Amino acid sequence: NEILEIKNVTKYYGKGSVVTKALDGISFSVEKGEFTAIMGASGSGKSTLLNVISTIDRVSSGEIFIEGARLTEMEEKQLANFRRDQLGFIFQEYNLLDTLTIGENILLPLNLQRKSHEDADRELVRVSEALGVSDQLSKFPYELSGGQRQRAACARAIITNPALVLADEPTGALDSKNSKLLMETFQMMNQSLGSTILMVTHDPVVGSYANRVLFLKDGKIWNEVNRGQRKRQE
Ligand code: ADP
Ligand code: ADP
Repeated sequence: NEILEIKNVTKYYGKGSVVTKALDGISFSVEKGEFTAIMGASGSGKSTLLNVISTIDRVSSGEIFIEGARLTEMEEKQLANFRRDQLGFIFQEYNLLDTLTIGENILLPLNLQRKSHEDADRELVRVSEALGVSDQLSKFPYELSGGQRQRAACARAIITNPALVLADEPTGALDSKNSKLLMETFQMMNQSLGSTILMVTHDPVVGSYANRVLFLKDGKIWNEVNRGQRKRQE
C-alpha cells in the first residue's frame, strides 16, 4: 500500500550558467505506516526534496504521486486543497498561535475543512488523548512545557488524518532532551495511530528513531537503511 511514489525526480534552480541540480533523478516510495528519515549533509537536497513532496515547489522533471494522486499535473488551487486534506506539517518552531488556546490551535486545520462541530470535537478528543494533551486544551501555549507544546503541534498535524506527515528538521531548534521527547512522540504517532511520517534531519541520533533512513548526496539517494522490526504489520 504505497502512500508516496517519487519517480525519477529532478530539480534545477537558476538558469543560464548558474544552474544548480538540487535533485538528480531520485526515485523511491513510502508505504503506509512507515516512519522514514531523509538524511544528508547541508546542500545534499533534503529541503528541496521535502518542498517538492509538500507541493510548495515544483519538480523540473519526473513524477510525484501521493495516494495515487499525481501532484505534478495539479494546478495551484488543486494543490492547495490537496495540502489541506492529505498532508500534515510539523514545523521547526511549533507555530502554535499565542492568542488561541491549545484546543483551538489543534482544531485549526479542521476549521479550514469546515467540519461539523460534532466531528471536530470527536477528532480533538481522539488526537489530544492519544498524544497526552487532553488536560491542556483550555490553556494557552505559554502555559505549557516545551514537550507539551510539541505534542500539541503534533496533534494539530494529524487531526485531519493526513495520508502523509511531513517534518523538515523538526528538532532543529530543540535541545537534546526535547529532541528525544519529540522523536518519542513521532514513534507513538507512527506505532499507535498509524501515521506515515517523512522527516528530514541532519542529526543521526534523530534519524535513528525512524524505521527507514534514506541518505542523500548531491541530489541522489546513495544509501538506504531499514530497521524492519519497527515496521507495522497491516
Ligand atoms: P539541504 O536541505 O540538504 O541543505 P537544499 O535542498 O537546501 O539542501 O539544497 C540543494 C542544492 O540546491 C544546494 O546546492 C543549494 O545551494 C541549492 N538551492 C537550494 N535552494 C535554492 C534556491 N532557491 N535557488 C538556488 N539554489 C538553491
Ligand atoms: P513535558 O515532559 O511534557 O515536557 P515537563 O515535565 O517539562 O513536561 O513539565 C511538567 C509540568 O510543568 C507540566 O504540567 C507543565 O504544565 C508545567 N510547565 C512546564 N514548563 C512550564 C512553563 N514554562 N510555564 C508553565 N508551566 C510549565
